[in-house]
Amino acid sequence: MKKDTIRAYCPSCRHHQTFVRVKTNHWAHLALSVLTCGLWLVSWGAVCLGVLLRPWRCEHCGWHKPEFRVHPPTAEKGAEQPQHEDAA
Ligand SMILES: [Zn+2]
Repeated sequence: MKKDTIRAYCPSCRHHQTFVRVKTNHWAHLALSVLTCGLWLVSWGAVCLGVLLRPWRCEHCGWHKPEFRVHPPTAEKGAEQPQHEDAA
């Protein structure tokens, strides 16, 4: 199976992790559908739906929503505090 990988922030792990997207081998599914007289179409449809709805998976925990942000939420929260309150 072919895989695509990206690095993104995982809210479940709270770290940057590798996310994996598995490419579907449609020729194998077509061959299995012919061999099983169309019975395999149910599995093929389920695989296509899964890839369509949740294409990326965290390699560590399996989370399906990678976030493309530079800093984790705790770092952004600290940066949002105004500077003048520290001096007062
Ligand atoms: Zn994760």
